[in-house]
Amino acid sequence: MQAYPSVNWWPGNILPHESRVSFAARFRDLNGISARRCLDFLDIDLEEGSAIGPDTIERLSSILREPVHEIESLFQPSLRFVGCDPYAPPPPNAHDRRFVRYCEACACRGYHSHLHEREWLSRCPFHRCELKDAYPPVHTGSIAARRVEALDRVMRNHCPSWPRCDDARGTASDEVVAALREWVLRASRSAARLSSAEIWCTGRHLGAYWLSSAQAFGQLRALAPMPETIEVLLADTGGTWRMDSLLFPAVAKTELERLNALGLSFARVIEVFQGISPSSPDPPSFVANLRAVKGLLSSRHGSCHCKWALVRGGWESHWVRVHADEQPYWATPCPFEVALEDLDRGWGGLDYALTGRRAMQKEVRYLELVREMHAAGLVRYIEGAEVSDKGYLYIGQDLPSSCRWADDSPLTELLNTASIWEIESAYGAISTWLDNIDEGAPPGHRADPRYCVRVVHADEGLHLIRWVAASSD
Ligand SMILES: [Zn+2]
Ligand SMILES: [Zn+2]
Repeated sequence: MQAYPSVNWWPGNILPHESRVSFAARFRDLNGISARRCLDFLDIDLEEGSAIGPDTIERLSSILREPVHEIESLFQPSLRFVGCDPYAPPPPNAHDRRFVRYCEACACRGYHSHLHEREWLSRCPFHRCELKDAYPPVHTGSIAARRVEALDRVMRNHCPSWPRCDDARGTASDEVVAALREWVLRASRSAARLSSAEIWCTGRHLGAYWLSSAQAFGQLRALAPMPETIEVLLADTGGTWRMDSLLFPAVAKTELERLNALGLSFARVIEVFQGISPSSPDPPSFVANLRAVKGLLSSRHGSCHCKWALVRGGWESHWVRVHADEQPYWATPCPFEVALEDLDRGWGGLDYALTGRRAMQKEVRYLELVREMHAAGLVRYIEGAEVSDKGYLYIGQDLPSSCRWADDSPLTELLNTASIWEIESAYGAISTWLDNIDEGAPPGHRADPRYCVRVVHADEGLHLIRWVAASSD
């Protein structure tokens, strides 16, 4: 058995719901060593939620003469949203690790909980007062050591009995912690159920991003009602969100399964549907919706007096301030023009904005996709379309107008409604963005709700759902 130096610690000294950084800071002060030596000796990760191995738990239990379950409770991942990625709040900002958040009332008793470090809580769960940030007094050493130093200074300034902390026990209320855990679990389960049944979500092809904290909590609170006692602790409740849902019958589900077996995912199907429909002489109704919102934007714009222009250069583009009356003379688009372009690029038919090799690659990919859809019976070629022996449309003719969507497909109504909801959602986001610009915000700051339209499996068919921010509270 390995021998450990004797340490100043006593069984039962770990506090309920204590943070790792508090444990390390007390250990360090009780033993009169530096933060670095303390962390080297304990050999633990202070990052809340990071896993800790059974060997380490065993070792700490032996060094501290604490039962294994006490050590485990100190290191168990707390309040995690598990298994619900598309609905999860964003991970902590790296910037948050540079300081320690604490409650002044708790600090007076020498107490600090891992709950004080939850980025989505802005108030102490036990005192309901605003949490404060403490920055490290030193700027050298590891981030973990600096955090220990930061908490240590707070505690020395607040708690007369630090590091023994005579009054710390009993500061945390088990009921509040249990209520928080219960809600996180309930919300995670609801969101996990929804996300495990999901087969498509709008905008995902543009990249995988985190939801804003406000949208995530607004949606999670809609999925799992939150007790008011917890709501008052949140940094941002996200306001009131609701989920609209429409059921499409089993034939739609069966048809999608048939297409999936042919390698045609919902994402590929809706891409072609939206790509060719605007060229149709008798288009589905989402095309009229698109025209209507473009009309609303154009009349709101009137003659351009915008104060911003988007300068595009290579991969980067940035907004510059221009004199309102001069905007029309710039060869760069104003926010309204950018919004109209975005709408057209999303739903106005095939995107020909690209040039050169990338445009060619895109066209070739599209030809292949259209051929597969044609073979699957979802697309028909118009009379007179030039088609190769292998069923490809020839390049050089107008692709979208050379084919027609098979209107009688059991998926048409679902695709059309999904497109309408996407356009309404995009229009809502654009309007908020333009309102903010009117109020003086720079156009580069854009916090659109993401992934608001989704398709999920249901026993009876397919559910089309959309998330709507009903009010921002
Ligand atoms: Zn407190
Ligand atoms: Zn303008």
